Amino acid sequence: MPKIAHYREKCIGCNSCVEQAPDRWKISEADGKSILIGSKKKGEVFVTEIRMDELEANERAARDCPVRIIKILK
Ligand code: SF4
Repeated sequence: MPKIAHYREKCIGCNSCVEQAPDRWKISEADGKSILIGSKKKGEVFVTEIRMDELEANERAARDCPVRIIKILK
């Protein structure tokens, strides 16, 4: 299964990933940055596996992130 990595520290909270893949992303009310739903922190990065049917939406999220901090690992 593909994985997503989110370098959350550099998130600017633009909401683009939430618009592209709302089942996998939300904005934190605590700090205004996005949360990769279901992820676990590994060092500085948040990582989770995704289903194949989530891949296309999350590839769009990665492509459109203005600070390029969403990586798809296939
Ligand atoms: S698109 Fe990038 S900068 Fe914008 S909220 Fe999502 S992770 Fe953060």
